[in-house]
Amino acid sequence: MTQAPARIVIVGGGTAGWLAALMLADQARRAGQAGEITVVESSRIGTIGVGEGTTAVFRQMLQHLGIDEMAFLRETGATVKYGIRHRDWRRVGHSYDGPIDDIAQVAGPGLDTYAVASGRSVAEAHLFTHLMARRRAPFGERDGRRVAAGPFHFAYHFDQARAGAFLKRHAPGVRCIDDQVKGVETGEDGIKSLTLESGQRLSADLYVDCTGFARALIGPLGAQWIGFGDVLPVNRAMPFWIDLAEGEEIDPVTLAWAQGAGWMWKIPTQERYGCGYVYSDAHTTPEAAQAEIEAVLGHRIEPRRDIRINAGRLDRAWIGNCVALGLSSSFLEPLEATSIHGTIVQLMLLTGLPEAGRAAAYNAAVARQVDDFRDFIRMHYVSERRDTPFWRDVAASHPPAVTDRLAQWAEAMPQRRDFTPFPLGLPHVEQQLYTPVLDGLGLLSQRAAKAALANDPRRRAALRRTHGALVSEYRRAAGKCLPHRPFLQSLQEDFAI
Ligand SMILES: Cc1cc2nc3c(=O)[nH]c(=O)nc-3n(C[C@H](O)[C@H](O)[C@H](O)COP(=O)(O)OP(=O)(O)OC[C@H]3O[C@@H](n4cnc5c(N)ncnc54)[C@H](O)[C@@H]3O)c2cc1C
Repeated sequence: MTQAPARIVIVGGGTAGWLAALMLADQARRAGQAGEITVVESSRIGTIGVGEGTTAVFRQMLQHLGIDEMAFLRETGATVKYGIRHRDWRRVGHSYDGPIDDIAQVAGPGLDTYAVASGRSVAEAHLFTHLMARRRAPFGERDGRRVAAGPFHFAYHFDQARAGAFLKRHAPGVRCIDDQVKGVETGEDGIKSLTLESGQRLSADLYVDCTGFARALIGPLGAQWIGFGDVLPVNRAMPFWIDLAEGEEIDPVTLAWAQGAGWMWKIPTQERYGCGYVYSDAHTTPEAAQAEIEAVLGHRIEPRRDIRINAGRLDRAWIGNCVALGLSSSFLEPLEATSIHGTIVQLMLLTGLPEAGRAAAYNAAVARQVDDFRDFIRMHYVSERRDTPFWRDVAASHPPAVTDRLAQWAEAMPQRRDFTPFPLGLPHVEQQLYTPVLDGLGLLSQRAAKAALANDPRRRAALRRTHGALVSEYRRAAGKCLPHRPFLQSLQEDFAI
């Protein structure tokens, strides 16, 4: 762990700002430093107000910070997420699940190859597939004690505002100022000072720009936005809520439901579903998008906002003494919940990279992180659908990053060696994320998978045994777990007076 700067000012009190405060305070604490961290947030500007799915990295971060997961679930109204259910992406009427547990952790490589060679879904040997199907919590009970169903980290669905408020409560020692940055004085080394609306001036050794789409700090330093409009086909979002019916069981999975001009997310919290239609405004209008969603849902909706997405990233997220995090640094689109994940991994880089050449190494790693997720997201749009102008245009415009990979994987199953390891061994998009998506879209080659095992009958037999054992073990383990909603309610009841 590298030394934390002595005085840090974080501007922005959204999820990114409070994640930064917590993780930078933790870095200082572990290094035995008495750092000074200030968060400037503006109650007049507000946060983005959407952003409800995470990846497993969020849970790893809570554990790293020593934050009680059950308190998090209870106080934020969060639910458990095992992955993403992709409906109507390959073709209308087809659905596939992308579980996020990496079974290579327990079974080594090769199980996916066996599954594809034998014409089975790669998701079948995942614990999370069975927990999703049975809508179970990741815990059973033995002798009155909670027992984890498996070794894998799961993710959460939550209300971004409640999660942000929770993180804020768990950042003791961090000074918070409710004000707005009005002036940024720059010099050779980056930012010299910030002037707030109240007239107060702040200066620091490190400035963290978490001002969302405003980019209030990194903008004046000359950072340039690299747009991804040519790669990602959606550019506008219409979030809305749907009530959760009393007693209705909660699916521990994000629904990503492809539509005529994009896709709709449906994410459960303990009180409601956070939903939204992400679409291409070159292919539909807000009015037509709303009518389309009301038709598929069979009821009226009330859009909460009209968000324009300018997908892309900064050319440099770190300039001088200023680092941009969260939406100020990059945004793709909501698919695969890459944004909060990206912020956490960026904070791990920021606090973990060696001192020498740190800013350059950080910028290169962040650029790679965002670009690789962009290409992974675009892969989801490789579809058999041609039923609307949107899907026809998407099919006619796949970028080389997608078509080259598809050509490669038509000849061989995706392997870990197809991906350069990410700095510090941090989680990144690799074959464990690609394989269920490619399989679900029908893009993996059974011929190639069979060929990979053809000359090794002993390995094939061993994989068959492991696969069979895992499927029955995970089916049995899921059956023993508590139903999801009663589990979440029990957390509330434990603390009811
Ligand atoms: C449609 C949509 C869906 C999304 N879905 C997901 C998802 O499922 N999963 C996921 O991981 N991410 C998702 N995201 C991204 C996610 O919302 C963000 O990564 C996350 O909420 C962090 O936002 P932020 O803190 O960077 O910005 P914001 O939430 O916008 O916070 C900005 C903060 O900066 C402050 N501020 C702004 N200007 C100033 C100023 N001049 N002075 C002082 N303070 C200022 C504001 O008061 C606010 O506190 C989604 C985003 C969109 C648009």
